Amino acid sequence: MAAAVTGTDRLDQLAANLAAVRRRIEAGCAAAGRDPASVTLIAVTKYFPAADVRHLARLGVTDVGESRDQEARAKVVEVGDDRLRWHFVGQLQRNKIRSVVRYAAVLHSLDRLELVGEVEAAAARYRSLPLPVLVQVALEPAVPGRGGAVPAAVPALAEAVAAAAHLRLAGVMAVAPRGAPPGPAFATLAAVAARLRQRYPAATMVSAGMSGDLEVAIEHGATHLRVGTALLGGRPALVR
Ligand SMILES: *Cc1c(COP(=O)(O)O)cnc(C)c1O
Repeated sequence: MAAAVTGTDRLDQLAANLAAVRRRIEAGCAAAGRDPASVTLIAVTKYFPAADVRHLARLGVTDVGESRDQEARAKVVEVGDDRLRWHFVGQLQRNKIRSVVRYAAVLHSLDRLELVGEVEAAAARYRSLPLPVLVQVALEPAVPGRGGAVPAAVPALAEAVAAAAHLRLAGVMAVAPRGAPPGPAFATLAAVAARLRQRYPAATMVSAGMSGDLEVAIEHGATHLRVGTALLGGRPALVR
């Protein structure tokens, strides 16, 4: 666990980080002519302890993101706050599907047609309400290990999700390519999202923007920002 500071010091630190991120979001929205209420902050808490999630919830955070099922599943139980919405933002592995559908409020990372049937079956079995699903889009240059469907594959995936009785097609998600400016990538994502909305008007979510590029994502229409480092501090280098 990366958090060395504990107790009220940590709460103060998280409060300061959260205030700074909220100021960035407000400035980004002002520059883009957008209402800050149209942007939801998801605190990505992977590698940080349940205590941090509780602190963030106390500070007003309502949405939390996790990318590794084993860690997430334990943390959901440990935090024990059923007002929080848990977003699964990591790569979706087949053997984790039955676990993820149980606690995820939104699945951000569906990127393969062959997984739709299993996600649908698990949602039918384990959920009382349909699972909101985002199609993860791979943006050029593709980010190895991050997954995502190429834009040309998005319509077929979207159709499969929309046809599944226990899934709800909610929009798109992407991670900006590393080592390239995020603007063109987020513009591509915005175009994919707009095409999707023409056919599925309820698919309004655009999950894009992280600690380093949230202003650019806001400029290109992101509705959900996934922010880890700027809120919680650095993670071990190998963790995505
Ligand atoms: C870890 C992670 C984030 C948060 O990234 P930061 O740069 O720490 O803000 C966002 N999205 C996904 C998919 C992640 O895995």
